[in-house]
Amino acid sequence: MVAQALEAELTRRRALDGNERVAIRPPTVVTLGADNVEAPAGEDGVRARRDATVHLGSSVVAIGPFTSTSTGARPCGYCLGARWQRLRAQFERQAIELGSGLQSTGEWPILTGNLLDSVWQLYLEVAGRPSGTGGVMEEAWVWVLDGQTLLTRRLPLVADPLCPACADQRPEPLTAELPPAPKRGDDEYRARSVESLALPDRSLVNPVCGILGRSSFLSVTSPTTAPVHGRVVFKGYHRLAELTWSGQGNSFAASRGLAYLEGLERYAGIARRHRAEPLIAAYEDVADRAIDREVRFLR
Ligand SMILES: [Zn+2]
Repeated sequence: MVAQALEAELTRRRALDGNERVAIRPPTVVTLGADNVEAPAGEDGVRARRDATVHLGSSVVAIGPFTSTSTGARPCGYCLGARWQRLRAQFERQAIELGSGLQSTGEWPILTGNLLDSVWQLYLEVAGRPSGTGGVMEEAWVWVLDGQTLLTRRLPLVADPLCPACADQRPEPLTAELPPAPKRGDDEYRARSVESLALPDRSLVNPVCGILGRSSFLSVTSPTTAPVHGRVVFKGYHRLAELTWSGQGNSFAASRGLAYLEGLERYAGIARRHRAEPLIAAYEDVADRAIDREVRFLR
């Protein structure tokens, strides 16, 4: 009910204020943290979250994702909802994802005039921007308003590869070609430096829609290296499983890059990276498309 009330108020203000502005998108509001996004409830529900422009949580209001690129809608609002849920506390996720019979005990948050004004002004600012202007809008962004402090932050969002609304469901492209990766030097152990990868730090770790967690942590007491570590919780077959990652280099910046790579490696090992159904068959039947493990890995 709060989401409907917020949408009605934003729609009313758009009709009053927005007429003089160019292309202010119609506000559509969904809730964060009330439904299990990992178990989509019907096509209508998926579509509504995919197209939502305002995401109402108990203590935050997230607006977006918006981008100026014309290459499609990715990432979508469903991607945002999924990432938000994965970053909730473990007890909260257990209730939402593994529990049953959840009931709301009241209406929250309270839509005070102050909060409504803040949400509307933020929406007016970011949803009224002309598209296709380049600059920072080339990426997909989410603007997050803290309901208690009214602090506003802009965070990048990366599409979720398993999103039921926008993920590519075609068969995964073949990636069987493994080119040579010679050592760069006698004392180098990687074909490329971590720095050359230009990892999207803020997309990987942020408190709203990070892929690998809400934040990274520095271990300042180590006498030898400058360790960085973090964690995120993934849903396994039967329960929630913790995925930790860490890196140990001679600076916190170097350690953070190594830690992100370990996190991505483990993420790729624990979750499918494509929404297409896996192909299960004898090797002889799919030899033209499959990697011969004996040839590639055992010789
Ligand atoms: Zn999506």
